[in-house]
Amino acid sequence: SLFGLPDQAAHERVLLATDPATGLKAILAVHSTARGPAFGGCRLWHYDSEAAALNDALRLSQGMSLKNALADLPFGGGKAVILKPQGDFDRPALFAAFGRAVQSLNGAYITAEDVGTTTADMRGLQAVTPFVSGIPRDDAFGGDPSPKTAWGVFVSIQAGVRLVLGRSSLDGVRVALQGLGAVGWHLAEFLHRAGAKLVVADVDAAKVERAVAQFGAVAVHVGEILAADVDVLAPCALGASLNAQTVPAVRAKLIAGAANNQLATPADGDALQARGICYLPDYLVNAGGIISVAREYRGEGEEAAVMAEVSKIAERVEELLQRVQKADSTPARVADDWARSKLVTLG
Ligand code: NAD
Repeated sequence: SLFGLPDQAAHERVLLATDPATGLKAILAVHSTARGPAFGGCRLWHYDSEAAALNDALRLSQGMSLKNALADLPFGGGKAVILKPQGDFDRPALFAAFGRAVQSLNGAYITAEDVGTTTADMRGLQAVTPFVSGIPRDDAFGGDPSPKTAWGVFVSIQAGVRLVLGRSSLDGVRVALQGLGAVGWHLAEFLHRAGAKLVVADVDAAKVERAVAQFGAVAVHVGEILAADVDVLAPCALGASLNAQTVPAVRAKLIAGAANNQLATPADGDALQARGICYLPDYLVNAGGIISVAREYRGEGEEAAVMAEVSKIAERVEELLQRVQKADSTPARVADDWARSKLVTLG
């Protein structure tokens, strides 16, 4: 049933937007507006099927509700996916058509960058709709959220290394990074500066070569990164990397990374816990980017203040681990309950 997909809480609205002239096929999913307008990025991706795109939009938008709630942002959760047209396409025209779809929701959904979309795309959207963020400006804070996302993941790893691994600093801590994209690269820089030893993998060989040269990283095959002999694993590529096939092979004792929806199913979080591996939920640790674009959108952006707000993610990691001890449960399940308790209308 479209109205009761497994594992999905009900969505308030799902818009299927098409525009034959530009080839646009997009799904705009508004999961919750309880805390405020649904805020979440827009993904441009090639999907094997329309059902896969819908599933991604529903899962990602639900995740945004939890992420925004846990980050105490006055926004609900939403997400859009654009099914990447085959062959050449007119990118500005495609995004203009997508912008009209965003505008048609009249502010119920606010968009920003995500995988496959750029700050230039967001600037293009701005001509069509005001409900967009993540736009670089000369005169004010704004733009690419990925450095802030990376910073939030970094402070989460710092907190986890201290509280879970019992080590006082990252000096000499071995970290495996899956994906050296916008977030992964910034994270690698922060980790390297803090003295961590990096093991990296990316399908893009040039990025791997750069990381080896710049950070003295050890490169491994993409099929081996999740099982690398390290202290910390940071998944920063795509979702569902932690699944029934990969979980038994993980050797890290702590997992904290940027990728959304890292657990293929809730059972994979249980399996990690059973193996003595602490998984810090993706939507808790990767909230830095949404904090950045949300503050930018509200005109509250100021670099130092936003960085301080992102750094507070470390305090939430600490509180989560305390709650986990008391609840005798897993971090993923405790974070879900904690976030859901905050899906309430703000006064
Ligand atoms: P990106 O596209 O810039 O980077 C992804 C990287 O992963 C690329 O370098 C790609 O080559 C690599 N990759 C793809 N498949 C791989 C595989 N199987 N093994 C190893 N590497 C692989 O994306 P990004 O903006 O860095 O985002 C990374 C993840 O973090 C995504 O899941 C995204 O949804 C999530 N995220 C990003 C932000 C943000 O601010 N950009 C915020 C929150 C969450």
